[in-house]
Amino acid sequence: MTAGTVHIVGAGLAGLSAAVALVESGRKVVVHELARHAGGRCRSYFEPALGLTIDNGNHLLLSGNGHALAFLDRIGGRHLLDEPKHAAFNFFDLRSGEHWTLRPNDGRLPWWIFAKDRRVPNTGALDYVGLAKLLSAGPRETVTDRIKSDTVLYSHLMHPVLLAALNCDPKEGSAQLAAAVIRETLARGGKACRPLFAADGLGPALVDPALAFIAKQGGSLHFDHALKAIEWSDGRAEALQFSNGTIELGAADQVILAVPAWVARTLVPDLKVPTEYRAIFNAHFAFAPPKSLSKITGVINATTEWLFAFENRLSVTVSAADRFNEADREPLAREIWAEIGKIAGIEANLPRWQIVKERRATFAATPDQNALRPPAETRWKNLRLAGDWTATGLPATIEGAIRSGEIAAKLAMVA
Ligand SMILES: Cc1cc2nc3c(=O)[nH]c(=O)nc-3n(C[C@H](O)[C@H](O)[C@H](O)COP(=O)(O)OP(=O)(O)OC[C@H]3O[C@@H](n4cnc5c(N)ncnc54)[C@H](O)[C@@H]3O)c2cc1C
Repeated sequence: MTAGTVHIVGAGLAGLSAAVALVESGRKVVVHELARHAGGRCRSYFEPALGLTIDNGNHLLLSGNGHALAFLDRIGGRHLLDEPKHAAFNFFDLRSGEHWTLRPNDGRLPWWIFAKDRRVPNTGALDYVGLAKLLSAGPRETVTDRIKSDTVLYSHLMHPVLLAALNCDPKEGSAQLAAAVIRETLARGGKACRPLFAADGLGPALVDPALAFIAKQGGSLHFDHALKAIEWSDGRAEALQFSNGTIELGAADQVILAVPAWVARTLVPDLKVPTEYRAIFNAHFAFAPPKSLSKITGVINATTEWLFAFENRLSVTVSAADRFNEADREPLAREIWAEIGKIAGIEANLPRWQIVKERRATFAATPDQNALRPPAETRWKNLRLAGDWTATGLPATIEGAIRSGEIAAKLAMVA
């Protein structure tokens, strides 16, 4: 084993998971991050407009996200997640006013599809059996090439769930990526699709303990330290040019590039990466939710897609939200607040609010874009890639990002 330093560029979850794995195995690690904080697209921060600490986006983890949970166990952040004993998802149809709860049974044998009070109203067991077609999808197929889109099951369950999982309309979304999510969650039974909720935000649960772990194990973290260019020679990275100086790489030193795809493209010659992105926006309202409101509600026939109830705020997520990129913010906040009123039974004036738009929240999980994702290995001997956009087999998710960091770390350990 080499005794060189592993330079990890980017302190999002991919970079942090690589760093955690490497320091744990006794490797010398230096993390370089452009921003003044870690977490990248999954971070908590104080939002003055609300007077509250919020996440940049409401993130949902499921109990089937095994690598994310193992990461949380390792860094000591798991106790900060609320883990319900059983899977249950509340839904509300804004048009009809109907509420229902989806309750998959714990085990792998899905007997819940035969129980009327556990499935979507006006669906039958056979509708669910038809979903198995997704699991044998080919690389060019979209979700709706495999499953029917003119059914109640599609409009009331598969569309909202896969829209959130893929962050693109399932009509254009990769059936293989959707299948990967289903295979690791719903297909394994309710035990694997319990929603995990970070009541105090994902920064305290996923990011801060990771930083403490890395520092405690002797890793170094440099913030405000943007990588500007990489110097190449003899098929390897020879030096890293940062905003404030250059680091020459020794023969045993290695690099894990854990920056977003659009940055990696500018740093590594001829790198093929996804080129299309989809937005997500979150609308946050400083209003304590009624006690009766469930922590997460899926909403259909509305702009609101998922309503999250935190202790002192209500928060809405809208995926594949590019159509709202130029929308005026206040009318949007008012529209969503009016919807929340109906969903949660609240009659109150618009409270303090903030809308956070992430224009490049994830790559577009279409078959074409999925085909552009590179593996962790590169043609450069001492350089590996990590990030939710690399070829993890999953859509751009926390689970995928953490897995990608672990893959890159493993490759660095055996190099
Ligand atoms: C609004 C929103 C909601 C989401 N919801 C969910 C969800 O519910 N469930 C889920 O599983 N996933 C969700 N995701 C996706 C999830 O957040 C991402 O998949 C994950 O955080 C990506 O991590 P990453 O490390 O691959 O990339 P990033 O978080 O983008 O990390 C890359 C890091 O590199 C740094 N960097 C960039 N350039 C340089 C440079 N030149 N030098 C040094 N550092 C640099 C960046 O500052 C950043 O910290 C959501 C994402 C968003 C934006």
